[in-house]
Amino acid sequence: AEAFNAAVAGADALNAFIVKTPDHALAAADAADAARATGDTAPLAGVPLGIKDLFCTAGTQTTAASHILGNFVPTYESTITAKLFGAGAGMLGKLNLDQFAMGSSNETSAFGNVISPWRRGDGSNAALAPGGSSGGSSSAVAARIVPGATGTDTGGSIRQPAAFTGISGIKPTYGRCSRWGVVAFASSLDQAGPMARDVADCAILLETMAGFDPKDSTSLDVAVPNWEAALSADMRGKRVGIPKEYRVEGMPTEIEALWQQGIAWMKDAGAEIVEVSLPHTHYALPTYYIIAPAEASSNLARYDGVRYGLRDLPDGANLQDMYAATRAAGFGPEVKRRILIGTYVLSAGFYDAYYTKAQKVRALIAQDFDKAWEVCDVLLTPTAPSAAFGLGEKSDDPIAMYLNDVFTVPASLAGVPAMSVPGGLDAQGLPLGLQIIGKPLDEQGVLNASLAIE
Ligand code: GLN
Repeated sequence: AEAFNAAVAGADALNAFIVKTPDHALAAADAADAARATGDTAPLAGVPLGIKDLFCTAGTQTTAASHILGNFVPTYESTITAKLFGAGAGMLGKLNLDQFAMGSSNETSAFGNVISPWRRGDGSNAALAPGGSSGGSSSAVAARIVPGATGTDTGGSIRQPAAFTGISGIKPTYGRCSRWGVVAFASSLDQAGPMARDVADCAILLETMAGFDPKDSTSLDVAVPNWEAALSADMRGKRVGIPKEYRVEGMPTEIEALWQQGIAWMKDAGAEIVEVSLPHTHYALPTYYIIAPAEASSNLARYDGVRYGLRDLPDGANLQDMYAATRAAGFGPEVKRRILIGTYVLSAGFYDAYYTKAQKVRALIAQDFDKAWEVCDVLLTPTAPSAAFGLGEKSDDPIAMYLNDVFTVPASLAGVPAMSVPGGLDAQGLPLGLQIIGKPLDEQGVLNASLAIE
């Protein structure tokens, strides 16, 4: 109990938790001790995890880092958390995130930004972004407060924060992990996955999290392999594709150097390196920032002051006034921006020009990957175009913030698995991540190539 209480208190300096639940972790630890006495242990017996506060947890407040959810306490458990707790894991708390998972720095949270445990080597002590949207997850794992955490990734929210904080995280194939009970952002992109210290821990957690769920209509009815048992860093006979379009203009030399180092490690592990072309890469970011807000504007229509959380009912207000007041008070500025973009691109006059067009481009981006798999087994790229930036550095410039997602959104649009693994440090001693992208349902290939880098 002391250790768990100390751990959650220690997390205060990072603002990593929105809700602390050390008693939940303690109950799991006690159950694990009791089970161990009889030799009957579950795979995650007693492991105290952090849960991104986008997962509904029965009896524990769930906020999505937004005031609009008010004091919402779900009566039901998300499929993923149910699976993790069923495998013996406990929950140390609900982790901070960008509001409704919209952001790349954790600065859009209504509960204050998360601070990365990392500092630049120049002695400036400037507070750095932990990445986003799973910034509470990344910093809690990086600071060794929890051995693993859940994340969600719509356009990079597992991979980019993992890269910023020197940990590993995998976004599985779309449909691998159930979205049931996960607060929706953009349903055709949202995917849950684990964040942990290393590849093996990610494999172990993903094995429990993945699996068919009839309650999620996009859940894939496929078997969950034993990924951890089949981990191998031997890349002989494997072809690693280097997509030339990811060599974006103005890419910092240290990111280019990181990529070259990754290529060298792959060769050392026995892989053959092949240059590949993903010709529509350039359109991925604008496509994502049409489709994701469109789906978000639709998903967020449910927060009307009637069914969930916050209700702002000014004196003499009619129903329309209540909707307006509730949504004005409850949503943060980034969420409002997405709702406005989304309703605009879905509006009658602009639907074809933006939304339909974006769907067509999305199909082309997916085809790029299909073609790449004819010549390679996995792709290797940097995870992000920079190391962690300072808090406040990009928060006034949404476009600069969106540009940080340039390497992560294509795999999200294509629905393919992708992982970030630590690849080295920049000149300031900050972690940089390498990304492995794989074929649909080939999480094993992604994990193994990541292990070759680790
Ligand atoms: N940074 C991206 C966005 O703001 C991705 C977020 C995510 O994957 N949830 O939409």
